[in-house]
Amino acid sequence: MRLIITGTPGTGKTSVAGILSRRLGWRVIHDKDLAKRRVVDLRSFRASAFNVLRWARDIIAEGHLFCEVRLPADAVVVLRTRPDVLAERLRRRGYPERKVWENVEAEALDYCLLRAEEKYGQVNQVDTTGRTAEETARIVERIVRGAHVYEAVDWTDVFMDMLLNRRGGR
Ligand code: ADP
Ligand code: MN
Repeated sequence: MRLIITGTPGTGKTSVAGILSRRLGWRVIHDKDLAKRRVVDLRSFRASAFNVLRWARDIIAEGHLFCEVRLPADAVVVLRTRPDVLAERLRRRGYPERKVWENVEAEALDYCLLRAEEKYGQVNQVDTTGRTAEETARIVERIVRGAHVYEAVDWTDVFMDMLLNRRGGR
């Protein structure tokens, strides 16, 4: 099976793909390895990814860029994370505040989900908030086994609070 794992940076794609790859023995490809330029050219990214995925059997393709293009896949998973939790993960990773907020906004607006639905049709959605990467991987493994998982999320209230605190606090 060809599994695509996408989502906002910091939602846990690389971690979950790594765990699943060890557990299933499947190869992983990362969007970064396919996008050769620093300024991403989606057409050439799509062409490289297509060449890999077209005939691949058991493979996990992970990265936020996968929500931007239509590719051959047997299942697509969008990972989600409550924006305040996401912000903490990205700060711990050393992201500058501007980058943290860019990704918090994308997550709050369901950017990757809407994109993925537009490109792939029906997708799976898994909320990583309050879970470990291992727990998330176990849910994604159910999808690999044929389940459809769609955990509804709504970040509106949390995001509003974050915006209000940012304006008041800085
Ligand atoms: P991405 O590839 O989406 O940018 P990474 O996997 O590189 O995300 O980083 C996500 C970070 O969040 C890792 O440090 C990971 O251990 C942590 N994390 C915490 N909870 C989870 C979870 N439920 N699922 C996935 N990652 C999680
Ligand atoms: Mn990653």
